[in-house]
Amino acid sequence: MSHTVTLIPGDGTGPELTEATRRVLEATGVEFTWDVRQAGVDVMETAGTPLPPETLESIKRNGVALKGPITTPIGTGFRSVNVALRHELGLYACVRPCKTYEGVRTRYESVDVVIVRENTEDLYAGIEFESGTEDARAVIDFLNARQPKQISPTSGISIKPLSPEASERIIRYAFEYARDHGRRRVSCITKANIMKHTDGLFLAVFREVAKDFPEIEAWETLVDALCMGLVQRPEEFDVLVLPNLYGDIISDLTAGLVGGLGVAPGANIGTGAAVFEATHGSAPKYKGQNKVNPTAMILSGKLMLDHIGERDAARRLDEAVAAVIAEGRSVTYDLKPSRDDPSAVGTSEYADAIIERLG
Ligand code: NAD
Repeated sequence: MSHTVTLIPGDGTGPELTEATRRVLEATGVEFTWDVRQAGVDVMETAGTPLPPETLESIKRNGVALKGPITTPIGTGFRSVNVALRHELGLYACVRPCKTYEGVRTRYESVDVVIVRENTEDLYAGIEFESGTEDARAVIDFLNARQPKQISPTSGISIKPLSPEASERIIRYAFEYARDHGRRRVSCITKANIMKHTDGLFLAVFREVAKDFPEIEAWETLVDALCMGLVQRPEEFDVLVLPNLYGDIISDLTAGLVGGLGVAPGANIGTGAAVFEATHGSAPKYKGQNKVNPTAMILSGKLMLDHIGERDAARRLDEAVAAVIAEGRSVTYDLKPSRDDPSAVGTSEYADAIIERLG
């Protein structure tokens, strides 16, 4: 059976990264029908928008998309395509597995954590009131009249909403992910001791949902203790479920533990669609140079294989990537001991080496 997938090449280095990924995915033997659609700065001039409606429709229809990175132009008034996709498709879970691969220069070995980040609420909901405005003053007056701790009238205000529904949805997703992927533990990361009505609510929901998964260990960890734990004993952590803000910060920390953005894949999961993309951006200064590392994009493709039920192909692809990196010969400049190593290969040749391994 052929899987129909929306393929968004993106801009900057996106097209070369997605092309390398498409070739590697096809080499697994899984059949794909690629519905190629545009988004990003390159299509903005002709379509008048960086996210044409037909691109969105394609993802909704196919339910799965593989997306290259997209530049967010500064100061043009265009909303980020990534934020728009998240809203339009209800992508509530951001999943980022961070695993060490032998041959990638890191300070740590044996890291294998999966970040499951809530993507719709928290301080990132975008509910803010600018210092000195009438609206900020009205909110402050309202709050000062209702509680003893007085807020300075000149303050700026950002609101942190966390609902039981969105909390349950992400926590249940984390436990189901753990169960389906043979993981032993899910840790709930909050600051529930201080923010009792938001993080405290998240933790209370976690305790309830955990009862439905008795085979999975449920851990509760404060986000500050987690930071120390991750740099001291990262091997102790398994699946982490976090509200939006902590998830954003901790997923960069764990990407750093395993070698940085070049090797950190990502999945954005919604109720009706899932979008797979690397954690890094469009690296525009390397555009068209066949230079940058496609590992994060290829591993995002691996997550997509897993998502569409092609588990065996996902495992074989992971092994092929691991073997090529461990050998260290046909790898991009950033995976060499020195960044100006003349034996480094390009994006495309690195993909060729993985394809050769896949046999
Ligand atoms: P970036 O991730 O593009 O680059 C950061 C650094 O990492 C640069 O030095 C870059 O050269 C390097 N780098 C990135 N990917 C690499 C790879 N695959 N191999 C080797 N080196 C790599 O971040 P930035 O420069 O802050 O952002 C550039 C643009 O990308 C911005 O417009 C930003 O908004 C956008 N962005 C898009 C996404 C997305 O589409 N999901 C994510 C993050 C940033």
